[in-house]
Amino acid sequence: MARSYVAEARKRVGPKRARIRPIIERLAAEYPDAGIALRFASPLELLVSVMLSAQTTDVNVNRVTEALFRKYRRPEDYLAVQPEELERDIHATGFYRQKAKALRGTMRILIEDYGGEVPTDFAALLRLPGVARKTANVVAAERGHPEGIVVDTHVRRLSQRLGLTREEDPVKIERDLMKLVPHKDWGRFPQLLIWHGRRVCDARWPRCEACVISDLCPSSRLP
Ligand code: SF4
Repeated sequence: MARSYVAEARKRVGPKRARIRPIIERLAAEYPDAGIALRFASPLELLVSVMLSAQTTDVNVNRVTEALFRKYRRPEDYLAVQPEELERDIHATGFYRQKAKALRGTMRILIEDYGGEVPTDFAALLRLPGVARKTANVVAAERGHPEGIVVDTHVRRLSQRLGLTREEDPVKIERDLMKLVPHKDWGRFPQLLIWHGRRVCDARWPRCEACVISDLCPSSRLP
């Protein structure tokens, strides 16, 4: 019964290949300012902000980095202080010991291998300590060279509800989305889903009646 209901809903909205464009277009019209909320003024600040944003909110990171970026301007600055001082300075972002260790390890590599610059190459970003695929994806996308699609909790939930993937694992979800979403939209697509997820398609209480893509969504609660 449930199975046939799902199949029915999928039939109603049509194949995902035909829906992806209008989904992107409508969300882009709805959220013209969609983007990451992190504040940064350089590739180094972007990298540090994204590394600090693990397990906390962008707002919290911005609060910490406002003072942090005044004090730490170059990779060398992160190594010039005692580890405990850096830990104190990023304490409010949580997991401060691991984050401080990752930051110091990353800064060392930036200095030794990249002349103090943040590499644009995706594989090089992935080799930095504490930089997982999601972090590298955000950094690469913000610098205009998306190599993949960021999959966080909102992207995962909305992709599943919209019938764009049947996978649970973020890496497999990303693979499905990369086949479906045009390359030029790899950067903004996850931001659009994150904004929609925060404002309308809530994890527990999706507001389908206020959703601009409800007719394209097999999970819509509307009749
Ligand atoms: S119709 Fe409902 S479930 Fe589908 S994307 Fe919109 S809010 Fe989410």
